[in-house]
Amino acid sequence: MNPVDYLRISLIDRCNFRCLYCMPEGAKLDYILQQNLLTHQEIITLLEGVFIPLGFQKFRLTGGEPLLRPGVVDLVRDIARLPATQDIALSTNAFLLAQYAQDLYNAGLHRLNISLDSLNPDTFDKIIGTGGKSRWKQTWEGIQEAHRVGFDPLKLNTVVIPGVNEGEVLDLAALTLDRNWHVRFIEFMPIGNPELFGDRAWIPSEELRSWIRQQWGLEEATVRGNGPADVFRIPGAKGTLGFISQMSECFCDRCNRMRLSADGWLRPCLLNETGQLDLKTQLREGVSIPQLRQQVQGLLELKPEINFKQRETGTETGLYHRTMSQIGG
Ligand code: SAM
Ligand code: SF4
Repeated sequence: MNPVDYLRISLIDRCNFRCLYCMPEGAKLDYILQQNLLTHQEIITLLEGVFIPLGFQKFRLTGGEPLLRPGVVDLVRDIARLPATQDIALSTNAFLLAQYAQDLYNAGLHRLNISLDSLNPDTFDKIIGTGGKSRWKQTWEGIQEAHRVGFDPLKLNTVVIPGVNEGEVLDLAALTLDRNWHVRFIEFMPIGNPELFGDRAWIPSEELRSWIRQQWGLEEATVRGNGPADVFRIPGAKGTLGFISQMSECFCDRCNRMRLSADGWLRPCLLNETGQLDLKTQLREGVSIPQLRQQVQGLLELKPEINFKQRETGTETGLYHRTMSQIGG
């Protein structure tokens, strides 16, 4: 079992996209009320008083769309400044990135994961559900700006959806040929919208690799980060290819993370809520920092027993109906 030293912090559950595998049109989403979001100071207090003393050193800001959170740059700066912070990263859909990239970089953020599901503007818009207004160009400009500013590694994440963007796997992989980018293919998880795709909901990573192998060949590689991806490279390419195979493989044994939701719930596992803690309410009710630390320590001890392997339980309890944007993906 890996030491758990990585915290994913959701800053907001809202988003300016409605990706059909995450927040599909028509999904019932009960957004967190503004007053229930952890404040900037509460996040810093929890990091300094609870998580860092327990050994957490790596942080990722996510959502929903974290760039919608007012003050995101200041929060990056304050987390990057904490002496214990070894790594800070952010996941974004890049729509607002052209505007934020330089400020985020200057504030101490050097690693970005960007969702990009298609290079075709029409397919892209269909996936992100814009209601007719194209968002491709501004998103691509955001990615270009992040590249110009110098984010390294710059990772692009693609959820491969059968019948929608599977035909673009080679085009997306080709982005790594002459750019030092890291394109990662994620197996679709039937959460949030489990009914959407029917029987062939996800394509095993091995199948994607066989398409790429046939075209160019593939060799094993490495890339900096905390990810659960299996990493490869097209021979001679500048960038790498990652495969996140949570459906076809179980990587619970390698899991080094916990998740803090935007309203302050600490979850030990993406799909298993056993033992989760409401840190925000307790903090606001005056529970002391050492007491909260003790509770988190208890959850850390429990974590090896709580895992994704038990995901069938999630189906029974309806856990699968919680979207990634609500959990803090
Ligand atoms: N809005 C940001 C973004 O899209 O990068 C950050 C939050 S988003 C929830 C984080 C990641 O979760 C994205 O890479 C997205 O593709 C992934 N994701 C969301 N729903 C998913 C699902 N059902 N299966 C697999 N990945 C999913
Ligand atoms: Fe928004 Fe990210 Fe979910 Fe897409 S995957 S709807 S961009 S939170």
